[in-house]
Amino acid sequence: MAFHAEKKEFTEITKCPDCGGTEFIMDWKKKEKICSKCGLVVGRIFKPH
Ligand SMILES: [Zn+2]
Repeated sequence: MAFHAEKKEFTEITKCPDCGGTEFIMDWKKKEKICSKCGLVVGRIFKPH
């Protein structure tokens, strides 16, 4: 239950809360989703495997 909620929260982030940017960079090494405009870490990446 908790895991599902966390995953949903991440996938729902489509707009940067800071600058409003809609393009993101996936940093697979740090497992972070980063705004391409301002560099804000908006969420964490969940690998399917
Ligand atoms: Zn941003």
